[in-house]
Amino acid sequence: MRDAEVRNHSQRVPAQAGVAGKAFFLETFGCQMNDHDSEKVAGLLLSRGYAQVETPEAASLILYNTCSIREKAAQKVFSRLGEYRAKQNDGKVIGVLGCVAQQEGEEIFKRAPWVSLVCGSASYRKLPEMLAQLEAGDHRVTGLDTDTDETFETEVTRRDNPWRAYLTIIEGCDKACSYCVVPYTRGPERSRASDAVLREVRQLAELGYSEVQLLGQTVNSYADPTPRGMRFSELLLAVAEVQGIRRVRFTTSHPSDFTSDIVEAIESQPKICDHVHLPVQSGSTKVLRAMQRTYSRDEYLEKIAMMRGANRPIAITTDIIVGFPGETESDFEETLNLLEEVRYDSLFSFKYSPRPNTPSIAMDDTIHEQEKSRRLAVLQEKQREIQSARNEELIGQAFEVLVSGKSRRENQWAGYTTSHRMINFASQGKELLGTYVKVRVTDSGPNNLVGRQEV
Ligand code: SAM
Ligand code: SF4
Repeated sequence: MRDAEVRNHSQRVPAQAGVAGKAFFLETFGCQMNDHDSEKVAGLLLSRGYAQVETPEAASLILYNTCSIREKAAQKVFSRLGEYRAKQNDGKVIGVLGCVAQQEGEEIFKRAPWVSLVCGSASYRKLPEMLAQLEAGDHRVTGLDTDTDETFETEVTRRDNPWRAYLTIIEGCDKACSYCVVPYTRGPERSRASDAVLREVRQLAELGYSEVQLLGQTVNSYADPTPRGMRFSELLLAVAEVQGIRRVRFTTSHPSDFTSDIVEAIESQPKICDHVHLPVQSGSTKVLRAMQRTYSRDEYLEKIAMMRGANRPIAITTDIIVGFPGETESDFEETLNLLEEVRYDSLFSFKYSPRPNTPSIAMDDTIHEQEKSRRLAVLQEKQREIQSARNEELIGQAFEVLVSGKSRRENQWAGYTTSHRMINFASQGKELLGTYVKVRVTDSGPNNLVGRQEV
């Protein structure tokens, strides 16, 4: 799952469009789950008469949806809060949402006394009450419970992408990876009812979305709480059958819950995208044990073999952490040769960062920052070579592309294949955005493909 990027969730709505000058600015740090939470928060605020604006200056309510997965991400939030300190004097309400809110709690009021709202992601369902308290003039409002079995449902979600809709099907996490703040910041695992998911997918299709991405920290651990008791693979198939839906994606899958019926669903239903993000974290069983990842290298490789044996090629991507406490040079070598063995289509790689409230904080973080950086660079270079070679193998092949961007250069467009490869391509077509076209690959680089539309 991509993270640590910063995006500004704004819609071109003038500030005066809100009720009595109520306007909000919402900035998001972090992964797709955070993006989607922000879309729901925006929907909630819009339904309460707020307008969404593009700058903090134009807003009466400034919200940061935050990420604390690694130290740098959390630091970024505090430095942003510092930048907007002066705004409080203009009568603006400043709020912190998401993982940093959950992790730091009321400490935020001490570190940044100009903040009025602190709400962790497990408490978003309480946001309407909290907003009402703020509107009534309260200066310190918090929502920090994680002992919930409810999910964050809203009547209106304002989505940022006009073609691809994110949809959370499972919130929180019941795994206990020793380095990870998520179980702490997002609370226990809660699956959404399958009928609510399918209802939303039908609405999305009616609104013109053709691609849905099902989200969860461990999306494939989905356990339908209704009497239907749908398995994850059954839900995938049911979503794909909704009229108007052309692509179904899902992320992130946990290797331990990645079962053969998911591969069978991908094989049997072409609308389910041929891409699985299956984070391995390390190629060394010893390190995996210390990370409490619940599988060994060999067990992980069995899942890879299952996908490689499918009757349709499946792109596989992963996440890797280098420099976990106790990772020796030979453990790291095992990760490098895992890369050679699997030949991932892409990966996200991170230097281990000790996080508060996680079990690994008690382990000696013995690996020097410099050594972590060296391992990261070596890993990324190896992956670059693998990706270059893999992408080159695709030259000459044709793929269906959902067009999502137009270049400033004339007749140049960009989009994604079902395997989630970015492709820049030439076409004489007009009004291609949001349509599906067939593109033949003519060239490639490590991070993208180049092609030409077939007519
Ligand atoms: N739930 C997903 C999983 O199990 O893979 C992803 C969770 S997290 C948002 C995304 C990635 O951040 C993880 O897969 C891991 O590689 C990385 N990550 C999490 N905690 C980390 C830490 N303390 N230091 C470095 N990287 C970390
Ligand atoms: Fe974190 Fe592990 Fe849960 Fe992923 S599975 S969110 S890495 S605890």
